Amino acid sequence: MSETGEEEPRAFCPRCGDPMEPPAEPRPGEPRDPDRVLCDACYFEGFELVDAPERVEVRVCSQCGAVHRGNRWIDVGAKDYTDVAIEEVTRALGVHRDVEEVTWTVDPEQVDRNTVRMHATFTGVIRETPVEERVTVPVYIARETCTRCGRIAGDYYAAVVQVRGTDRTPTDAETERAVEIAERYVADREAKGDRNAFITEVDHTADGVDMKISANQMGEAIAHRITREFGGSVSSAETLVTEDSDGNEVYRVTFLVRLPPYTPGDVIDLDDGDGPVLVTSAHGNLKGVRLETGDRYEASHEEGLDPDARKLGTREEAVETTVVTVEDDRSVQVLDPETYEAKTIPRPSFAEADAETLPVLRSRAGLHVVPGAETDPDAEPDPGPEGPE
Ligand SMILES: [Zn+2]
Ligand SMILES: [Zn+2]
Repeated sequence: MSETGEEEPRAFCPRCGDPMEPPAEPRPGEPRDPDRVLCDACYFEGFELVDAPERVEVRVCSQCGAVHRGNRWIDVGAKDYTDVAIEEVTRALGVHRDVEEVTWTVDPEQVDRNTVRMHATFTGVIRETPVEERVTVPVYIARETCTRCGRIAGDYYAAVVQVRGTDRTPTDAETERAVEIAERYVADREAKGDRNAFITEVDHTADGVDMKISANQMGEAIAHRITREFGGSVSSAETLVTEDSDGNEVYRVTFLVRLPPYTPGDVIDLDDGDGPVLVTSAHGNLKGVRLETGDRYEASHEEGLDPDARKLGTREEAVETTVVTVEDDRSVQVLDPETYEAKTIPRPSFAEADAETLPVLRSRAGLHVVPGAETDPDAEPDPGPEGPE
């Protein structure tokens, strides 16, 4: 057209032969769209904004609401099946890759209990032309039972965690806390997407508590978390239950948690001439504080958590009693809470000089001042369930 010889290179539509602007080169890495070379008229003739399946079937677990996707069950956290249907249709719909400024709305229409018709409207811009398309996709909800719910219903378990005491029964606080540790561990696993984490049964027995857990490894982890908090030991025993379909032997493992004989708060008599000890820690070896002096006590490595001792009572049993007079660094006169007689008893270092009352435990070993709960001089920070592995 121009005489300069620098005229625009011309292109022709390969389908209708009309002259057209040469098509833009695809961006690097982008697969070539064969329709890219067509003129606008031919391009829009075959253009589909939305690629929609004829129907979508969604398998949901009627127990827990999980959705079967690919080849596994996934917790989607949906409030109802309409939400699930919207989500699945959205995943199934494809929008033409070259369209820009895409917007869409979806309008569910509940047809019956198991069918939701999704009316979806898409808009966008391509070749500087606004485009719009409406599609309707029926979604069928298939109610099933997922693997996990099937196993829970079938009382499936692979491990048992048994919590017991050493020469005693675990306290209610200990068994409740043990169950809490297990529930929290399983909830953490679930939150991380592990669908094979569940507790089938919690059985409070006369001796402690038994918990049936879905996997061996989880049973072991829970048992160790319990001893990390309370001290004590874990032993395990396998029981052959069956062979799986490949002929492999399937074992169930029982993890026995032995809580230590004495727990923080116990007052024990070691019969060593140095008077009663308030136990403050049962980690590694037993630690505590001497009630006559306030000195620290620690069991030897050989004694560990089970030194030769007898239990006199607990700190909880102590009662506040009136201080009559502080006699010296080593002794204090208090009113015996039972007889109301003034009695001179050892004054440990944790008994404050200006205290008007002191908590006192009466036991076979006599009257002893115990540390108040808030002013415990020897309490060790409890590593708790977040402690190191
Ligand atoms: Zn054309
Ligand atoms: Zn389920």
